[in-house]
Amino acid sequence: MTVSVVLYTSDLRVHDHPPLRAALEGAQEVLPVFVRDPAVDRAGFAAPNRLAFLADCLTDLDRGLRDRGGRLVVREGDTVSEVRALVRQTDADEVHMAAGVTAFARARESRLRRALEADGCRLYVHDGVVDVVPPGEVLPYGSDHFAVFTPYFKRWTAEPLRVPLAASRSVRVPSGVRSERIPRRTAVTGVSPALAVGGESEGRRLLGSWLADHVDTYQDRHDDLAGDVTSRLSPHLHFGTVSATEAVHRASGRGGPGAEAFVRQVCWRDFHHQVLAARPEAAGADYRPRQDRWRRGAGAEADLAAWREGRTGYPVVDAAMRQLAHEGWMHNRGRLITASFLVKTLYIDWREGARHFLSLLVDGDIANNQLNWQWVAGTGTDTRPQRVLNPVRQARRYDPDGSYVRRWVPELAGLEGPAVHEPWRLTGLDRASFDYPDPVVELSEGLARFREARSSS
Ligand code: FAD
Repeated sequence: MTVSVVLYTSDLRVHDHPPLRAALEGAQEVLPVFVRDPAVDRAGFAAPNRLAFLADCLTDLDRGLRDRGGRLVVREGDTVSEVRALVRQTDADEVHMAAGVTAFARARESRLRRALEADGCRLYVHDGVVDVVPPGEVLPYGSDHFAVFTPYFKRWTAEPLRVPLAASRSVRVPSGVRSERIPRRTAVTGVSPALAVGGESEGRRLLGSWLADHVDTYQDRHDDLAGDVTSRLSPHLHFGTVSATEAVHRASGRGGPGAEAFVRQVCWRDFHHQVLAARPEAAGADYRPRQDRWRRGAGAEADLAAWREGRTGYPVVDAAMRQLAHEGWMHNRGRLITASFLVKTLYIDWREGARHFLSLLVDGDIANNQLNWQWVAGTGTDTRPQRVLNPVRQARRYDPDGSYVRRWVPELAGLEGPAVHEPWRLTGLDRASFDYPDPVVELSEGLARFREARSSS
């Protein structure tokens, strides 16, 4: 019997899975493996929301493989040692896996390749499993990556789109291979109360229903905070329970301005992946340094705590921060407003904000989190790095009747109309009717401080 191993990482699905397909074509038996590696946790993965979502994904992947006659083998330990042991036990000739984009993932691939080659086993790393267009596939003249989104999007759109693969009908797994118990979501503590359900079945259901019911209004309504009509596919794209290629394929097949706007948004994901692949240090260091001397000390600590806890006194900021804590997810417009507020209005280091987001976001990933934070901070790829979002104007525009704020800040639920966005303007009995903090800083003061700090950059 010939055997191939499929090493799952951020691609927890059976549909449109090139490594699984290649393994099945090249061997009589295939061993699908996921390794719970403590080094991945140390590299920033471990957050209760992501661990709980992962548990759902692994349970569902095992079910998907069992429906096809197979099963998932879960191991705990160093990825390279575990895969090597399984290769030796099953006498496998090949290991197939998806290419990653982080420095961590790439170092793991090289280590694995070296270890397997020493045992006479070949590692196949498949591009285009995690991304639609793999990093480095399209390049501008004279550079190793695109630093501006619009020209990248133009080239990305012109690339041929891989046709998604159907799920294989049958997966035959070698017998006698031990698996750890698949982790259970209920065993994870500290999970956000309204965390989404993970797994390929749920991801495919969500993709289908969203394309059928909402994609057509996406272009007009994607910034509507209360409407909440974006796809919410981000955790599924992050864990690979939905294939980005399949999502783009199906959206493009529908056509129309909503689908086009959605596809453009998915392209941002690949854009950040190709920046990080070329500049791995951008996960922690300024991509474009601006000589910032971020605020530190007791005042900054107190402001940071107020921001994290959703009590800055700016209702739309607080609403979004509370949504993050409650769901492990935040609307994109909320992410833009809260990040701009922390970095530009409070002038606190973007790394503090990124760390807090990563501790809660179910879709939290190094490329998209860190580089979006850098984009907002003006240290990244934004072509207008000094822009500052005014949270009151943003709130009036994207939450015009205040429903989003009232949903997440119950202290203000009794206020009607635009007053909900500026409660500090109320006086007397009106002001006494709710218990909500005054703003941590005046917007004009924050703006002046930021402009002064950046005037020399
Ligand atoms: P939709 O609007 O339905 O978009 C479809 C898909 O496109 C998303 O699921 C996502 O995969 C991709 N996408 C959309 N916008 C972006 C973007 N700006 N950058 C990269 N991909 C995008 N996204 C993450 O996936 N992980 C993160 O850790 C993350 N951190 C962020 C931090 C900040 C400060 C900001 C401003 C944005 C961040 N984003 C992150 C991007 C974006 O906010 C989320 O992808 C989006 O809100 C997810 O909701 P959705 O799936 O409904 O998106």
